[in-house]
Amino acid sequence: MVRKGLLIVVSGPSGAGKGTICKRLLENNPQMKISISATTRKPRAGERNAVNYYFISEDKFKRMIYEQKFLEYAIVYDNYYGTPEQYVIDNLQNGNDVLLEIDIVGALQIKKKFKDAVFVFILPPSLEELKNRIVGRGTEKLSDIEKRYDAAISEIKQVMKYDYVIVNDNVSEAVQDIEAIMRAEKRKVLRNYEEILLRF
Ligand code: 5GP
Repeated sequence: MVRKGLLIVVSGPSGAGKGTICKRLLENNPQMKISISATTRKPRAGERNAVNYYFISEDKFKRMIYEQKFLEYAIVYDNYYGTPEQYVIDNLQNGNDVLLEIDIVGALQIKKKFKDAVFVFILPPSLEELKNRIVGRGTEKLSDIEKRYDAAISEIKQVMKYDYVIVNDNVSEAVQDIEAIMRAEKRKVLRNYEEILLRF
């Protein structure tokens, strides 16, 4: 019997360091897969199609919504972002853990569909540090920086909707914390009950 993989949802404000943490998690855990989202946002310098995102037109995105191809989707900073369903379902069935790096609106949609998914919120060390990181990244226009900073403040207020919170003072520690969360989640009785009944 192949045990189903764990679905782990990571959210947090822009600049909290989610991307770096997720990248490190994937390097450390070969059985873990990240879902590549589709978006109508334009690629930033260095971003590649089918690696960072599937960069698609608004028409195509809307068609995919109509065809029910998304597990969840949301409009974030004026662009559509969504998680293609098939990849996630296939990997969970094959026993791989699947990581979704998505916003809160999307995370709440996942919560309704997957009762045993795990929700982790990543916080920056401070608001000042958050602003430095958004500005320092140099990928956004000034108006976008302000938009992301304001959104960050209201997103942080929604942390109560998540199961776990990690303050990203140190990337290695943040990664270790998520790995510890995953180990503990996999030991939950409910996740193992069927197998225990079969074996004992
Ligand atoms: P960025 O434009 O910086 O790559 O991402 C902006 C925001 O969109 C981030 O908060 C990120 O977590 C979120 N996001 C990325 N992919 C998805 C997705 O598939 N669904 C949802 N709901 N949010 C996403």
